[in-house]
Amino acid sequence: MTNVVFGRHQLKPGMAYFTATGPEGATCGDCKFLGYRRKSSAARWDAKLQQDVNKTYSVNKCAKFHALTGKHGADISARYPSCKYFEEKDTSKAGEGSSA
Ligand code: SF4
Repeated sequence: MTNVVFGRHQLKPGMAYFTATGPEGATCGDCKFLGYRRKSSAARWDAKLQQDVNKTYSVNKCAKFHALTGKHGADISARYPSCKYFEEKDTSKAGEGSSA
């Protein structure tokens, strides 16, 4: 069995695992887990709906990190080398409906 040693430089806050443990050349920006919508903790009155609503907003965080830890990690860069949980973004929907 091979012992794999990871360096401190491969540890980035908010990432689900060490950098550069995913597919060669892939970055977090190519991964389906980068970015999700987070619910605001502060409810605001919506006059149109006549009820309190918690708005959502986009965050540049790893959804896999959130799923594994139950916490919202730090924002991560799309340029970070991917980790072992990398799953390629589905880009097939991009441009859907734009063909004539
Ligand atoms: S490669 Fe994907 S799962 Fe891993 S840290 Fe980056 S966004 Fe998260």
